[in-house]
Amino acid sequence: MKKRPTTLIIGAGGVGRVVAHKCVQNKETFGRIVLASRTLAKCEQIRDELPKGAIEIDTLDADEVRNVVDIIEKYDADIVINVALPYQDLTIMDACIATKTDYLDTANYEHPDEAKFEYKLQWERDAAFKEAGVMALLGSGFDPGATNVFCAYAQKHYFDEIHYIDILDCNAGDHGYPFATNFNPEINLREVSANGRYWENGKWIETKPMEIKMVWDYPEVGPKESYLLYHEEMESLVKHIKGLKRIRFFMTFGESYLKHMEVLQNVGMLGIEPVKHKDCEIIPIEFLKTLLPDPATLGERTKGKTNIGIVAEGIKDGKKRKIYIYQVSDHEKCYAEVKSQAVSYTTGVPAMIGAKLMLEKKWYKPGVWNMEQFDPDAFMKEMNTQGLPWKVLELQ
Ligand code: NDP
Repeated sequence: MKKRPTTLIIGAGGVGRVVAHKCVQNKETFGRIVLASRTLAKCEQIRDELPKGAIEIDTLDADEVRNVVDIIEKYDADIVINVALPYQDLTIMDACIATKTDYLDTANYEHPDEAKFEYKLQWERDAAFKEAGVMALLGSGFDPGATNVFCAYAQKHYFDEIHYIDILDCNAGDHGYPFATNFNPEINLREVSANGRYWENGKWIETKPMEIKMVWDYPEVGPKESYLLYHEEMESLVKHIKGLKRIRFFMTFGESYLKHMEVLQNVGMLGIEPVKHKDCEIIPIEFLKTLLPDPATLGERTKGKTNIGIVAEGIKDGKKRKIYIYQVSDHEKCYAEVKSQAVSYTTGVPAMIGAKLMLEKKWYKPGVWNMEQFDPDAFMKEMNTQGLPWKVLELQ
């Protein structure tokens, strides 16, 4: 690699903004920073928030491998941080293989025409990444991302065997709108309206959307109803955590959010199949995205906190143990630092940390990897200094 690396960030949404700000804060690692996305105006806006000359900007349509190859070659990029949408994961990965460039993303591949996400097609590229001698780090956001690292940290320092994991994601932020999503509405609503799923004794068990709920008392937030969802980090964690018997994922939703979701679903507004409207075809969920507030504009209105963590239960030295590792972020503090609310912040900072560890070769091996496959200590240390301090509580 050249003495001064080049970092290419693809995607100038809420998360892309945070990644750009945080890479600039760590310029000695990231070197030349280029932000490229579909809409140049969004890149310009982010560039203008940063010190003059801190980043360069460009445009591309990342749905085509050729376009991604061209931009990687144009800037001679060493690493691509993919914070566009999950639909672009494979084209960007293939461009990285073709150009022998390291790759990182925060969400696993989804096909635009099918509301289903899984690692299969990304894991299948492991041999090609190894052959090219470059690395892909998958799911380096908060969940997936930091939550995987929390599990690896629990396994390394607190347990001989972990039997149960609950991942608990609470956003107690209030943006003042009756209904809006905190990240890309299409991705968010597809995730939330799908059937739930958890893993127990080697099998996946499917549930109806919002069928299972519990109340969890989130430190610094308070008790909140939390609903079982399927979430992608479980797919890799069941492979990599020793002795696991059950893993579940819970997310909090307010009453107003759930009421709107139900109505939108009942009237067909969450559909992903085209419908005929007068002389044109529209995809309901895409049209809904046009109507809803852009998540990138929620930042300055959002107050309150997020609390995301894991509860792990298992055995240490022959005794039962239960711990809770969590991180609390404040929407207004995040906005004051990088002009984004906490959901984008808690995703963008881990993306930057993952890329930093790769560039510094602290986390580096050719092939396609998930977060829990690396030593968690370096990542946990960076979280404490880069704006995501965490805590561990012994519950038993
Ligand atoms: P946004 O919709 O705000 O931003 C996505 C950006 O990608 C937009 O700027 C968009 O361009 C750009 N983009 C979309 N398609 C293309 C394309 N074909 N070519 C080039 N650019 C494109 O999303 P977020 O910032 O909220 O989310 C970014 C990613 O982070 C998503 O994959 C999301 O799933 C993931 N995420 C992960 C989390 C985690 O904890 N792991 C949590 C939250 C999000 P345009 O402006 O033109 O639309």
